[in-house]
Amino acid sequence: MPLTSEPQDRWAWVEIDLNAIRKNTRAFKGMLKRGTQLMCAVKADAYGHGAVACTKAMHASGADQFAVATVAEGVELRQAGIEWPILMLNQAPMGAIQTLVDYDIMPSVYTSEFALAYGECAAANNKIGKYHLALDTGMTRIGVLPADVVEFRHAIDFHRGLECAGTFTHFATADNLQDWDFSLQAQRFTDAVAALHDAGCDVGLVHCDNTPGIILHPNMHFDMARAGIGLYGLQPSEATEGRISLAPAMSVRARVMRAINPAVGEGVSYGLHYRIPTPHIQVATIPLGYADGLSRTLSGRMDVLVHGKRARQVGNICMDQCMFAIDTNPVRSYRRAEPVVEGDLVTIIGKDGNECITADEMAKLRGTINYEVTCNFGMRLEKVYL
Ligand SMILES: *Cc1c(COP(=O)(O)O)cnc(C)c1O
Repeated sequence: MPLTSEPQDRWAWVEIDLNAIRKNTRAFKGMLKRGTQLMCAVKADAYGHGAVACTKAMHASGADQFAVATVAEGVELRQAGIEWPILMLNQAPMGAIQTLVDYDIMPSVYTSEFALAYGECAAANNKIGKYHLALDTGMTRIGVLPADVVEFRHAIDFHRGLECAGTFTHFATADNLQDWDFSLQAQRFTDAVAALHDAGCDVGLVHCDNTPGIILHPNMHFDMARAGIGLYGLQPSEATEGRISLAPAMSVRARVMRAINPAVGEGVSYGLHYRIPTPHIQVATIPLGYADGLSRTLSGRMDVLVHGKRARQVGNICMDQCMFAIDTNPVRSYRRAEPVVEGDLVTIIGKDGNECITADEMAKLRGTINYEVTCNFGMRLEKVYL
């Protein structure tokens, strides 16, 4: 399976299937009523999938707006020529306000000091400073508390440089059905938006659902919904499985750089924690390590795929390399695997033949969630777009 597009300078890379991204985006857009906008979270370099390429693929498939976490992420999209609305899902430090205005990145706002400084800067640049008002309805992360929101708007609305383009909150438990805490947050949000309306405030686009919210709580779609993990083809929780069909977009691949048959008793990697137990064990090295997002906590506990079969990773995962073992013993034929040679394709995440290793499998082994697995593989590996 030689890939003409794989990087020439390193035998480890991430493959991104943009068709999967397009298909998933259409699936989410299709869950929304006509006229409801889809905002795509492309923060953290699109969860490790590459923000610029994903943003373009998503927009071509029905996405209306995009969400980033940092000023730099917004600037990267603008410098790549992306002109669609970008919301930063947080307030920025005061020192970044000029950059937000220069690049038309809408901040989320929850302090009047920030809002007024942003309005001042926008006005000084003959622009209108669009922002989204963040409400903290129970996650205790960012936002104005519902009890303070009308007063907050009265304190900033005099400023001619400001325009409220949206009002939103974020759910802590959208991935549970029939969750009491979710209902409480939903009620607080609905009440706060109603209070703003009653006070005569223009609230802009009302939005709150994330991926699990879109799937499990369609009554909360309002004017816009914010999808993230689902766009990349991963389920946010067990509760959403079976309710939407998604195609994982990321695969992680490498090629064998070296393979030898060490003598019984020889050790592998830092600490020599793995020792060759029997004759005919082959140990192969791939140029992929924890600096590429392969968590060291997986050492000796994960599989890779080679020739369509599982092989156990052995020894400590190094910063830039790791090793796996192949039992080529001709006697124990029930386990016998074909020896590998330099250049053989190895799959760390993704499919090879009938076998598959998912981000969910790796997340479970690591004691984390699939979100962190894909984010981590975005760190250093070159991305190849299919
Ligand atoms: C990351 C994020 C999202 C997207 O969440 P998913 O669970 O990936 O769908 C939506 N809204 C906010 C505020 C976020 O931080």
